[in-house]
Amino acid sequence: MIPLRLLPLALFIAGGAAFAAAPKAGDTPPVDQTPWLPQPAVTEFWSPEPPIVTAPSGGIPSDAIVLFDGKSFDAWTSVKTPGAPVPWKLEGDAMVVVPQTGHIETRQSFRDVQLHLEFRCPAEVTGTSQGRGNSGVFFMGQYEVQILDSYDNKTYVNGQAGSIYKQFPPLVNASRGPGEWQTYDIVFEAPRFGFGGIMRTPARITVFHNGVLVQHAAELRGPTVFRGFPSYKPHADRLPLQLQEHRNPTAFRNIWIREINLPE
Ligand code: MG
Repeated sequence: MIPLRLLPLALFIAGGAAFAAAPKAGDTPPVDQTPWLPQPAVTEFWSPEPPIVTAPSGGIPSDAIVLFDGKSFDAWTSVKTPGAPVPWKLEGDAMVVVPQTGHIETRQSFRDVQLHLEFRCPAEVTGTSQGRGNSGVFFMGQYEVQILDSYDNKTYVNGQAGSIYKQFPPLVNASRGPGEWQTYDIVFEAPRFGFGGIMRTPARITVFHNGVLVQHAAELRGPTVFRGFPSYKPHADRLPLQLQEHRNPTAFRNIWIREINLPE
């Protein structure tokens, strides 16, 4: 029931609605210009416009840096012998780890990135647990997303494929069988360090394994360590990406990366 003292106002609003022109099909709905309501434009901003990226179906986004196109190791160098040629081998459109030769790393350094890579654990199953198709992606050379043949292969769960090694197990095991190509699509947000080198925000990692979400903005406790508990130490804003040599002939192909410059 409308209180009597508000009746004139109610009649005024109802009258306005009755005289409004009926919208025609295809019209933009009329914006309510009632002065005491916030106008829609208050929450709209028009610049800066996001850069245009073309993303062809099944292809590489136009702003991606191709790290491996199946033809050359140009974007990479040896970690064991800085500046030396990559000690791994090319086979068809893939690069294959040569055991006992050491990790490789990108010549370019990165901070926040989106990474796509494809990997294949050996078809011939020889080892068990951590000895099957073991490799890894080290963001900034120190934060590892594990690569392992985790198809019907028991190991500690925070060391299986899709884990943040020794920190977070994957949400699910999306592994394909030995010898099959698999994909990782990873978002890495670098840690931020403040005054005195104190960690201000931790590294965060999101991983899709074969298109399946296996890590969602996992907040790392520090760099990957094999023994003991991780803790952050301040480091450069940008560092190379590494791929791990772990004595297994794991293969890689189609590796590209996008710098994503997340807000501080
Ligand atoms: Mg590994």
